[in-house]
Amino acid sequence: MLSSSRKQLWWLALLMAVALLTVGGLYYKQRTVMQRVTVLGEDNVVWVYTQLGIDYHRALGAARLAAATGATSDLDELQLRYEILVSRITVLSEYRFAPYFHDPQWHVKQLNALKAMISHVDAGLAAHNGGFDQAGARDFSAALEQVTDPVRELTLGANTRLNQVTRESNQALQGLNTLVAALATLLIVITAAIAFLAYRNLAASDRRRREAEQLSEKLERARVEAEDASRAKSVFLANMSHEIRTPMNGIIGMTDLALDTRLDTEQRHYLDMVKSSAESLLVIINDILDFSKIEAGKLEMEHLPFSLHNLLAHTLHPFALSAGAKGLELVNRVDSDLPDHLVSDPSRLRQILNNLVGNAVKFTERGEVEISVTQLSATTEGAILQFAIRDTGIGIAADKQQMIFAPFSQADSSTTRRYGGTGLGLAITRQLVELLGGKLWVQSSTSKGSVFYFTLPVRFTDNPPPALAATTDLSGLAVLVADDNATNRSWLNSLLHGWGMRPTLVEDGFAALQALEHSDYPLLLLDAHMPGMSGFDVAEHLQLSRRSATVIMLTSSHERGDTRRCQELGIRGYLTKPIRQEYLLQLMRQLLGRSVSDDSLPLLTQDTVSMPPSIHHVLLVEDNPTNQKLGVTLLERHGYQVTVAINGLEAVQMLAAQHFDLVLMDMQMPVMDGLEATRHIREQEALGGGHVPIVAMTANVMNGDRERCLEAGMDGYISKPISAAKVLEEIARVQGGRLPAPPVAAGSGGEAVFDYDQLLRNCDGDLVFVPSLLQAFAEDAPKLLAEVREALQQGELARATIAAHSLRGSALSIAAPALVNACQQLERAGKSGDMAGANMALVRISNGLPPLLDAIQPYQAATSQ
Ligand code: ADP
Repeated sequence: MLSSSRKQLWWLALLMAVALLTVGGLYYKQRTVMQRVTVLGEDNVVWVYTQLGIDYHRALGAARLAAATGATSDLDELQLRYEILVSRITVLSEYRFAPYFHDPQWHVKQLNALKAMISHVDAGLAAHNGGFDQAGARDFSAALEQVTDPVRELTLGANTRLNQVTRESNQALQGLNTLVAALATLLIVITAAIAFLAYRNLAASDRRRREAEQLSEKLERARVEAEDASRAKSVFLANMSHEIRTPMNGIIGMTDLALDTRLDTEQRHYLDMVKSSAESLLVIINDILDFSKIEAGKLEMEHLPFSLHNLLAHTLHPFALSAGAKGLELVNRVDSDLPDHLVSDPSRLRQILNNLVGNAVKFTERGEVEISVTQLSATTEGAILQFAIRDTGIGIAADKQQMIFAPFSQADSSTTRRYGGTGLGLAITRQLVELLGGKLWVQSSTSKGSVFYFTLPVRFTDNPPPALAATTDLSGLAVLVADDNATNRSWLNSLLHGWGMRPTLVEDGFAALQALEHSDYPLLLLDAHMPGMSGFDVAEHLQLSRRSATVIMLTSSHERGDTRRCQELGIRGYLTKPIRQEYLLQLMRQLLGRSVSDDSLPLLTQDTVSMPPSIHHVLLVEDNPTNQKLGVTLLERHGYQVTVAINGLEAVQMLAAQHFDLVLMDMQMPVMDGLEATRHIREQEALGGGHVPIVAMTANVMNGDRERCLEAGMDGYISKPISAAKVLEEIARVQGGRLPAPPVAAGSGGEAVFDYDQLLRNCDGDLVFVPSLLQAFAEDAPKLLAEVREALQQGELARATIAAHSLRGSALSIAAPALVNACQQLERAGKSGDMAGANMALVRISNGLPPLLDAIQPYQAATSQ
């Protein structure tokens, strides 16, 4: 459209130029013609030729007169007339008008006749002294009569001919004028056409401009709509994340709490299933939320310092358990030259490893899974690391190796049936690796196994990650919790109470500020999403009012910019729901171990908090079979691998031959007691290096026991009866490097024969285990009583004391306070050599045991069916 009208315009312009040139040419021609006519008019040519006739006739008259008279005056007159005629002829022969005549030769011929006549007359005159005489006059008169015709021709012909020229010129002018008029008309038409085309072009460009404007308006609207949609999508994602994680936190947390209560076997089984289903669901939800976030371009990578060693240890620990359960070996090899303190996004790195190692364990039935980290290249600033996750599992067919990275795809549909999974894991993993600046690829062959490789650029840092931060004891600490979700509040309440803290719970930000008006809280746990006033708003108020408190933000959706906001508002910790108890505990301990005013320390999150080195294999040193059984069951139930040594000597020998992550050491044992064994172990370590944490388990409540344990080189101390909570707490404490809390006096609970609730707590609520423990006690206790009795009868006070101690240990385990006290009385008497006191205690024990056996009997019977 545009180009065709442009072409037309060009043609018109060309035509116009030609027309203008033609008009120019015509104008020039017209001017020439006009000029000729004008010149003819101006010089009065006709008059000049007419004058010739007049001059001729005057000269003829004068000649005739002079010829007749011969009078001097007439001769003079003739002379004058002759000269006038000569000059007239000269003028005409020089005259420039000749070209105006159509036949210039005609003009020349006539003039030549006249000139010949004059030459003749002049010749005659020359013979007579240049003047006329009468004869000369006659001669002249005759000569003049000879040229009558040429003169008439010139006089009349000129007139006629010049009239003709003027006529022709006028005709030519008329023609030219017509042509000019035609051209002018053409020019007008062309101009009109140009104007029309220009108008059309203008209109078209105007329309196009309007269309462009409309289009850009449309685009702008679309952009705004897209932005709105993307904002809505982010808000939706955040809301979804919040809406899903909040109840998930409730489900998982509450299930955990419920699992710690008194339950029958069936109930426990159901709750275990609830928990594992909730956890599976959470994995899927997290995958979907992450995937949507990546799709929406909303996933923000962090740059935080972390310890590679710690990260690997914590990431791999749970897999070590699941791999162990399948009989797989999990091997971790990190290039020894690699610096440990790195900067990248630890949480995403962990997610990547979780996925790849999870898949490796999932798709491997026998053999091993190896995780290795090597350094591909390095500068002084940082390095490119290469992670390789190798398994000896089912492998992936060559033609499926690209497909598995596409979302929702699995190598083969039977895999889904057999192993489950959403098919999103690798798609997310690849995107995460790429967002972190690395690459992910796989090498695999069917039935031999797979190696997933990925590269990761990291920066080095001198700033040690918070791994080395001190931890602190939380017992008795006042903490303010603000969360709008009642379930979460109640869960946090139980948890914090369980850790010996003093929580105050409020349901929104305003209530939190009010609570802060009335008392000081060194620690605040704030839910980020609360209606009206969010956790961030509370933190901001706190900052403005210059109160110093450690704030931990609990959020159900990690949002872009949260880390920066936390740093700006002086928030020290940040945990994403569902919150894992151990992370919350460790995070609080580490944060409170820091100085509150220290702003330079990075934000602690579940990924940067230094979780204690993982403990996997525990050596339980215990001579008492009941307690052995209790210890092994409790530890195994929490995923630990347990080996039993029946006395200190055996423990020392086992430790020399094999590595254990933790030793739980009974204090009083035959052959070699706990203190001595610990001293030996520490001596061995002084030679060979290393330090295995040793935690004492003792039924002794004597003052100074704690000091003696620490002196011998032990790291911790728990009082019997051991319970899962105590052991886990102690393991966490030992890992966190805290000093042991003073022992709680055992047996202070009164004289009850049997405390079933306490027994359940001791056994972590395990109703399958309780009856077998009671069974073991019912078999053991009479034998120990018999031994005490026999020893006393034979006067062997020491042996009686040892047996009573052992009996007390068993009584503590099954929560039989009366028997505990009786045994303790015997031990005290034994230690002070008081035989009579010992015998009195024996009576108490003998009297106490049968009712105890009766009391436990229904529980043995009820559950052993
Ligand atoms: P899923 O949730 O199904 O495991 P992924 O995206 O993590 O989703 O994995 C996609 C598919 O890739 C899996 O279903 C499986 O077929 C294959 N795959 C992943 N890792 C391995 C592995 N280590 N060995 C064998 N097959 C694997």
